Amino acid sequence: MSQSDFDLVKLHCGVQTYDWGKLGESSAVAQFAESADPSFKADPTKPYAELWMGTHPSVPSFAVSSSVQSTSLRTVLSKYPGLMGDRITAKFGPGELPFLFKVLSIRKALSIQAHPDKALGKQLHASDPKNYPDGNHKPEMAIAITDFEGFCGFRPLAEISALLKNIPEFVELIGGQKFADEFINGYKELSPEDKEGSPKDVSNRKVLQALFSRVMNASQDTVSKFTVLLVERASREQEKFGSSIDPSYKGPFGKSLADLIIRLNKQFPEDIGLFCGGLMLNYVTLKSGEAMFLRAKDPHAYISGDIIECMAASDNVVRAGFTPKFKDVPNLVSMLTYSYDPVEKQKMVPEPYPLSKSSSDSVKNTLFNPPIDEFAVVQTVLSKKGDSTTLQALDGPSIIIITEGSAKLSSKTTTLDFPRGQVAFIGAGTAVELTNTGDDEVVTYTAIVEVSAA
Ligand SMILES: [Zn+2]
Repeated sequence: MSQSDFDLVKLHCGVQTYDWGKLGESSAVAQFAESADPSFKADPTKPYAELWMGTHPSVPSFAVSSSVQSTSLRTVLSKYPGLMGDRITAKFGPGELPFLFKVLSIRKALSIQAHPDKALGKQLHASDPKNYPDGNHKPEMAIAITDFEGFCGFRPLAEISALLKNIPEFVELIGGQKFADEFINGYKELSPEDKEGSPKDVSNRKVLQALFSRVMNASQDTVSKFTVLLVERASREQEKFGSSIDPSYKGPFGKSLADLIIRLNKQFPEDIGLFCGGLMLNYVTLKSGEAMFLRAKDPHAYISGDIIECMAASDNVVRAGFTPKFKDVPNLVSMLTYSYDPVEKQKMVPEPYPLSKSSSDSVKNTLFNPPIDEFAVVQTVLSKKGDSTTLQALDGPSIIIITEGSAKLSSKTTTLDFPRGQVAFIGAGTAVELTNTGDDEVVTYTAIVEVSAA
């Protein structure tokens, strides 16, 4: 065995069968696992929630080739540090990828949550290691591969105000009209001169925090009583969940928000998430190929769909709703940024990926590059049979998965058949060529550390 055996090598990746996953072969996770590993057979009654591609010890990925024995990627990287590259090893430490790459297939909403930034991650881990198992931050990026819906960040304040004016249960939950008025009359519309962090913006965030705190501190009896009434109203008066009072309301109108509330209540009966998520957070939908970045200290939840997810290696989660797990309400209320951007601002703006060369205009290499160090993701689309592209050698490691079509993936020394669902590791310093060998469009996603040539 030598390092060159692993410059480009197939991976067999493990799955997580969390309860919220899509069932059997309706799950992209199960489809991909079956394609990559012939010994894997999806059970139609079982949920397949996550496919993990990386070096996380709890669900390891294995490097598999005809010339070497199946070996965990973690072991391979420890043995051959050259695959990580000197610069990335110096920056993030040896033997472990700085990112964890995943596929998620979501049938049922995941908990509403937020993640600390680096400074808060350290502090939480030091004071409560049981609930905060490491001291890292956990930036996450989601790219849809089927129609996706989720919550991301707080709604613009005019939307929350409109919902407070329309929905008496929201007012009752927070303790009555006095507190609703404090919000409705307390926030100020920003003019174009009022930048983020201006006195008006800072004051708006305080007003939003006060409202969120009242929602999160409602007793379970209060929550049960008013969720039942809220769901009744959603069935009876859908128009109240829209713009009937406040013309500045831009959110999901009437029926769609009312339906969402009813649907989420079936999954999580009498849960505070209907208020702190359904009424207070942006409802975001992504089409296949669209992405959102979940900034530190911003609340979010995945509701349904299949996505590619990339994240930094951490398990630090502060939960707010749709979960039976521990909710750290004081830390949650104090940590959030309380930014309140509209839905469009939550989506990522894709850029052309510079370190690639393509055979024709029907090939596209697109970069999703969030403002953090640990990862970026390149989307490659080869529209027609015979289309090919070269992804230049980087000075760090990467992992590629094919989500549509059928391709060939080759380096100077290795050629892999690469049909839908296959995953491969690419070492630092290795350029690869990807060619569409089938009749359908090929789509791949490559997680890289940085856009930095070898
Ligand atoms: Zn998250």
